[in-house]
Amino acid sequence: MTVANLLDFDRDALAAFCEQLGEKRFRATQLFRWIHQKGAADFTQMSDLAKSLRDKLAGRATISAMPLISEQASNDGTIKWLFDVGAGNAVETVFIPEDDRGTLCISSQAGCAVGCRFCSTGHQGFSRNLTTGEIIAQLWFAEHHLRRRLNLPEGQRAITNVVMMGMGEPLQNYSALLPALRMMLDDHGYGLSRRRVTVSTSGVVPMIERLRDDCPVALAVSLHAPADALRDDLVPLNRKYPLAELLATCRRYLDKAPRDFITFEYCMLAGVNDSDAQARALLALVAASGVACKFNLIPFNPFPESGLTRSPNERVSAFLRVLQDGGVVATVRKTRGDDIDAACGQLAGEVQDRTNAKARMTRAPVPVHRSGSVVAEAIKAGRTGLQETAP
Ligand code: SAH
Ligand code: SF4
Repeated sequence: MTVANLLDFDRDALAAFCEQLGEKRFRATQLFRWIHQKGAADFTQMSDLAKSLRDKLAGRATISAMPLISEQASNDGTIKWLFDVGAGNAVETVFIPEDDRGTLCISSQAGCAVGCRFCSTGHQGFSRNLTTGEIIAQLWFAEHHLRRRLNLPEGQRAITNVVMMGMGEPLQNYSALLPALRMMLDDHGYGLSRRRVTVSTSGVVPMIERLRDDCPVALAVSLHAPADALRDDLVPLNRKYPLAELLATCRRYLDKAPRDFITFEYCMLAGVNDSDAQARALLALVAASGVACKFNLIPFNPFPESGLTRSPNERVSAFLRVLQDGGVVATVRKTRGDDIDAACGQLAGEVQDRTNAKARMTRAPVPVHRSGSVVAEAIKAGRTGLQETAP
């Protein structure tokens, strides 16, 4: 008999499981509340469930998160946890406290297959998708751990917002992601509103369409370039789903949620994508697309293998001004947890490289079919602070 991990089940799946045990479906709601609202990991705690049910559960189910490898706390209050997901792989989860909210940044995969040049997870290659249980376990663990640690009064939440911006491309792990999102929104679970849960994607067009129909949470799209040639280089998935298609999909996404907007993330890379002309090109691009949007400029968090450098602060400010003067809402993301490598794109875990991504990425950029490799040209011209590694 297999033992089920109840963290894998959203409320519907838990109801089906209860039926299999010969129990009424509504028991699932009680059970779900014990697990997600109270953080129970032990069936003996569940005092309002019949002893016979608790005994049945004890033999057939567990409530288990991944083993915790380490916890690091930053001077600014950010906390990073590293979890063991087996076979030498680990994923990271980051808690970012602010005055009016507590945000949890969750991983969706061990590694990532998209292979963006500026991303340390991308450089690690792809190991495997996380299960629904492993995705939700990050929230389950963090919420209840923080409640205990911060000594929060009954009913007060530690985590008010979730962003799927940890390791991995969430929309390349859609079937595990969707039940996890539903558990986040479920009033008997974490009760987060749709707008407080953000999925960040590098642009998996067909899955953006599905998310719109299944569970239209807030959407962040990692743009990083105003034109296909440069985006092809920085975010290889662009070769499959180019900007025009991506932006059309973003516009359709908002049909389901007309009062919403898309957040465009833009990682600021010195000499690569940070000129005033590129800011103006971005303005033109989003104006033509008709997508209601905000820009979030992310100062690049460097790591040696990338060969890229962060745009200087004055450049980020100038770029920001061009966007704002063009009538677009734009902000610069504060860098948090720098001292513990918890900032965006620094989440590398200890993922084993099964796809040989390192070798792939240290080669010169793959020439692309549109107008050549813009990054490669910049390298040749010595404009970027990029250092080309030997092929
Ligand atoms: N795969 C998804 C979500 C995870 S990455 C995505 O790409 O959107 C979360 C955000 O961090 C993305 O916007 C990504 O572009 C950004 N990011 C990745 N590496 C970074 C780095 N080194 N410095 C700054 N931001 C980075
Ligand atoms: Fe994957 Fe996102 Fe990193 Fe790109 S930026 S490699 S999609 S995790």
